Amino acid sequence: MKIFYFDLCAIPIYVLILCTCYVRGMTKGRANHLFLVMVSVSLITTILDILMEKTVWPVPLTQARVVLGTAFSYGYLLTRNLSTFIYFIYLFSVTRTEYRLQSRPVRLLIWLSGVTMVVLLLQNFFTHNVFTVTAQAGYSRQPMMRLLYGIAFLYFIMGTGYCVYCKRYLLTGKWIALISVYVLILTSVVIQMVAPKLLVEMFGTSLGLLLVLMLIMRPEETIDGTVVVEGWKAYLKHLDYIIKTGQHVQIVVVQMMNAEEIRSYIGDSEFHTYIMDVASEIDRLYYEKHVHIDLFFERPGSFYLVLEDTKLDVASLVPQFVETTTRRVRRYADQGVRFEPKFCIIRHPEDMKDYQDIVSIGHMFTRLGRHDQIVFNASELIEMRDYNIVNHMKEILNRAITENTLSMVYQPIYDIREGRFRSAEALARIADTMYGFISPGLFIPEAEKAGLIIPLGNIILESVYRFISTIDMDALGLSYIEINLSVAQCLQFDLPATVARLQEKYGVDPRHINFEITETMFDNLGEVMDRNLRELVSMGYSFSLDDYGIGYSNIHRLSKLPLEIIKIDKSLVNEMFTEKGEVIIRNTVRMMQGIHKELVIEGVETRDEMEALAAMSCDFIQGYYYSKPLSAEDFIQFLKKHNKAA
Ligand code: C2E
Ligand code: MG
Ligand code: MG
Repeated sequence: MKIFYFDLCAIPIYVLILCTCYVRGMTKGRANHLFLVMVSVSLITTILDILMEKTVWPVPLTQARVVLGTAFSYGYLLTRNLSTFIYFIYLFSVTRTEYRLQSRPVRLLIWLSGVTMVVLLLQNFFTHNVFTVTAQAGYSRQPMMRLLYGIAFLYFIMGTGYCVYCKRYLLTGKWIALISVYVLILTSVVIQMVAPKLLVEMFGTSLGLLLVLMLIMRPEETIDGTVVVEGWKAYLKHLDYIIKTGQHVQIVVVQMMNAEEIRSYIGDSEFHTYIMDVASEIDRLYYEKHVHIDLFFERPGSFYLVLEDTKLDVASLVPQFVETTTRRVRRYADQGVRFEPKFCIIRHPEDMKDYQDIVSIGHMFTRLGRHDQIVFNASELIEMRDYNIVNHMKEILNRAITENTLSMVYQPIYDIREGRFRSAEALARIADTMYGFISPGLFIPEAEKAGLIIPLGNIILESVYRFISTIDMDALGLSYIEINLSVAQCLQFDLPATVARLQEKYGVDPRHINFEITETMFDNLGEVMDRNLRELVSMGYSFSLDDYGIGYSNIHRLSKLPLEIIKIDKSLVNEMFTEKGEVIIRNTVRMMQGIHKELVIEGVETRDEMEALAAMSCDFIQGYYYSKPLSAEDFIQFLKKHNKAA
């Protein structure tokens, strides 16, 4: 008589694993599917094992028991061998190396042994050379059973071998869990051989799968809980893995250019739903193309798609991609939400092999290339000068801070009513000793990310204060100079103190300075920022809002803030002569006048634009039409020449 207690214990363990997977939502993706199938099949095997042993004992059997016992035995042998096969495939899936199964010899080996297993069982109907169930002897193994076990053993050897091979890529805990399934199966098989009455094999397997559940199937480690897509950490791990294994893949980075604005506009929870919608659209699109992708999400709004298919022309899919994702998120369109993605396609290892390079190009590609470019290829980007610059930005910024390679230029701003240049915007430039001229569009965002914007900002402030102290503002006809402040600067609790120190050092009148801030700052409008703004206003400084028109401005909020000037972004001017653009500008001008704000229109390049804006009674115009940003000396000469007449 066999002892069933171990089998009986295995059943609740399998059920527990299945429930846990279900409750934790681990039901999507190939690895999860395979794991669930593996556990379910093992559960069935365990039940069949008990049923079979119960029916084929004690002998002699009734005819009905012979029939049932035979059926259960077929079921048991089939599911038992099937599960070793599934676990073998699962190993590749969970280690993200399924591509290794695609080579023809490997596929042949796997399928051949799988098919042999099934054929072996089927032919037993006629030959009875694998096992028999008879009334007298009950269940008994026949010579060909060895072949069946041999195939299972082959999977066992291949699987264990692959686990050992993968050790260098895997975290120890994960590796132990994966290989423990084999160790436990081997141990229980040995025990069952020594003590045939103990049915421990399925119990051993269940313990192994429980370990896998505990140490490997941990979505909380990688899934970004609020959007239920694998997160940034998971992408980095995956990338590391791809590089170590030398896998050929295409990585597509999809950056939603306006993610931050959308989030602040529709709120966190709606935004998360929006991201989930986009993610499922992406999944569906590639599913329809029969291309397996791994999808990751990075805040505020970037998707990383890793494609095992290296031949698929990803760029040609972009229009469809944009179309479907936009359609899916149309319900937000009424709220002004647009899906504005840019794509970067990186082929590994052809375009890039280095981990850091791949990570950083995903973050910076939108700042390279043409402004209106939507699809970027890594192979082209790395040839660009800007790519080199951004890649060496840290050293460039350090030189700017220590070697004085930063300087300020001034762009005159024309006052239409008074007919003279009454102000100017101070703009930073770097003339690097190695890379030459570098535009602030490149280095300001990098300085913000590298945490260097504070020292850099201080140099900028000092430079402008010094400049103002050397000129006679009134004699030149200037009322004030505008200085751009970045978010990080505004969040410095000692910003007013820094400003006060410079003010005293250079004897500058606060009315001669206007600080430009952008709308993104109001997303961060915390206590420090709020206090800084108030304190600087009480010291006599004024503020303007830069780049109006590219975010989602809330006019009510604008009217409440201590802003004297609103600067309309040049992108609106670019559309000035379209029907819509004209209406937008005209109404913006009227609205701003309604809430008593002065208006600067940026980026005016032509006479037509200037005249159209003057006709709308704008206050100030800034742009290449009047002057490009000028060096301090040229700026003074410019004012002397043009403001004299006025
Ligand atoms: P911004 O503050 O909106 O500055 C206006 C930008 O538009 C400047 O670019 C200016 O050269 C450019 N511009 C002015 N008129 C025209 C025109 O008619 N046509 C065209 N195509 N462009 C025009 P720039 O100097 O490259 O600065 C880019 C951005 O970098 C600035 O945008 C600002 O956000 C940032 N930035 C520049 N200097 C500083 C600084 O000292 N501190 C901080 N925090 N940011 C700065
Ligand atoms: Mg500005
Ligand atoms: Mg601007």
